Amino acid sequence: MRKLAFGYSTRCNIRCEHCVAMDGLPDNGKMDHDKAKQIIVEMARAGVGGISFSAGEPFMYFKEIAELVKLCGQLGIYTRIVTNSFWAKTAESSDSLVSELKENGLCQLRLSYSKWHQKNVSRNNVLNAAQSCQKFGLNYFISFITDFSREDDPYEQFLRDHDLTFFPEPVIYAGRAAAFKQRNILTDYQANCCDMNPYLTPDLDMYACCDAGSHFSKTRFFYLGNLNDHTIEQLFTKNETHQLYGLIRTMGITNIASFAGYKAREIITHTKCELCEKLFNSPQMLTTLQAQVSELSAWSR
Ligand code: SF4
Ligand code: SF4
Repeated sequence: MRKLAFGYSTRCNIRCEHCVAMDGLPDNGKMDHDKAKQIIVEMARAGVGGISFSAGEPFMYFKEIAELVKLCGQLGIYTRIVTNSFWAKTAESSDSLVSELKENGLCQLRLSYSKWHQKNVSRNNVLNAAQSCQKFGLNYFISFITDFSREDDPYEQFLRDHDLTFFPEPVIYAGRAAAFKQRNILTDYQANCCDMNPYLTPDLDMYACCDAGSHFSKTRFFYLGNLNDHTIEQLFTKNETHQLYGLIRTMGITNIASFAGYKAREIITHTKCELCEKLFNSPQMLTTLQAQVSELSAWSR
């Protein structure tokens, strides 16, 4: 199924230290509302079956996002909103917004949570939002972003104490978090395949990867094109037929890194996105991989 992260706006009401947003870029980009509706109708025609409203903080444009969610529902598109829960200060305010979204057909709410988010938003907001979802039967989960340090233990314990549904997610060392000191991690030697959901920006640029990939500034490896110049179908087709993207999905970043000459001992010290950046944001490495893509495709056990 075709899925997409829909960046209606890059504005956010808080400023987390770990955000993948880049400092120095304007953070007030917003898509025209009628244009967004038109794009969603075209996406349904192109077979898009899932839209996640992410990027900045979608609840800053609550009425507009609620309308877009309703439209998606009418077109049979699964919807998710990713939020920092700033709006859930009280159980009442939380209930009011969650029930409206549920009525509009929202399928899932994803609540972002971490030691960085919670410097700006009380963790009780996240609890209120989750409890409203439980009350109104809206599927939710908490995305617990962590650098796996002991400092994160009380944050995790809070979620366990309240019996909330959460999934830990490694912080991505890109954007503002690129300045963080990274740990040398040692993980299992695993494939690190990546689903790579495309991301649409408020300026209608589309990228093949919605996470760190839109910041690969030296090669723009994941840039698919702009919807003013291409159709949705063309950009999805490019995403689905690009050989190296296909290998990221099926072979995984680890095997590509090994093929490219990285020692196994070194590979296990990097996160998935870090390795990806080394391979595909280096003009020289990218040229080599593009030239050897047939050998790479055949490189299987
Ligand atoms: S991580 Fe999310 S909540 Fe925090 S500044 Fe970035 S967009 Fe806003
Ligand atoms: S590994 Fe690469 S493709 Fe996957 S999320 Fe990270 S940057 Fe994007």
